[in-house]
Amino acid sequence: MNSIKLKSRAKINLSIDVLGKRQDGYHLVEMIMQTIDLYDLIEISEIEDNQIIIKSASDEIPLDCNNLVYKAADLIKQKFNITKGIEIDIQKNIPVAAGMAGGSSNAAAILVGLNKLWNLNLSDQALEELGLKLGADVPFCINGGAVLASGIGEELTPIKGLSKDICILVCKPDLFVSTKEVYESLDSKHIDKRPNNKFLIDCLKNEDIRKLAENMFNVLEEVTVEKHPVIQQIKDIMIKNKALGAMMSGSGPTVFGLYDNIEDANICKSILENHFKQTFVVACEEKGVEVNG
Ligand code: ATP
Repeated sequence: MNSIKLKSRAKINLSIDVLGKRQDGYHLVEMIMQTIDLYDLIEISEIEDNQIIIKSASDEIPLDCNNLVYKAADLIKQKFNITKGIEIDIQKNIPVAAGMAGGSSNAAAILVGLNKLWNLNLSDQALEELGLKLGADVPFCINGGAVLASGIGEELTPIKGLSKDICILVCKPDLFVSTKEVYESLDSKHIDKRPNNKFLIDCLKNEDIRKLAENMFNVLEEVTVEKHPVIQQIKDIMIKNKALGAMMSGSGPTVFGLYDNIEDANICKSILENHFKQTFVVACEEKGVEVNG
């Protein structure tokens, strides 16, 4: 039987600006996204019955048609009239509902994986168009790397990303944040500070990590911190422990800190780990989804 294994990588945001709202309710954003080397392992195997079966040891994700991987597989099967069945095994390492695009990245992996498994010969552009039907972050997750994303997050301009020797300390507190509620709270507020994305892109280009770290900004952060002060506490611990800068990713609650050496990052990791078990030190990565044999 045919099968394929994939790495499905997470992202962090180095900035998020919200510029407005479309008539259909989607927010218009301008944000810098960066793939990181924290990934779920996904295996897709063909099965006898014409079904989509999802297996995972994680009790945090649905295993039925509500899982984004189911939706991605169903989309491909319907579009190309494929009557073969598949089993999808997900080994979850990316924190769930964290602001790290875990679900979107898994959906992207299914699109890339089935494109290969079933020789569909879809171009990157065609995959991104299909991905957009599943979620605004899915097109980015397909290729990943570092981009300035605009529109609702689907207009992608590749930029130079973080250098490989920067250590990213990622910490996800054990609480649930509703992305929808965060955006709704933002709608009722005046945004008085925004990121300067052009400046941040120049910092990346010039490898000026200090200036980048000091100027990263996420307009959603204040809204989420108001409800969950622990996010600010994690940021403060990172800054006190030599992070060059720290910020919330996506709509939260994950916080990350940038370090220019692994020793300082690991010291802070060991402090945070006493309270937050989902704490990792990772590097950036150039590829969102990677076929792994
Ligand atoms: P984003 O950064 O794109 O907002 P996120 O990291 O905040 O994403 P996800 O991890 O994608 O959030 O999870 C959001 C919700 O989607 C969760 O409540 C989860 O149960 C559901 N979900 C469905 N499929 C998946 C999947 N394959 N992996 C993770 N979550 C999934």
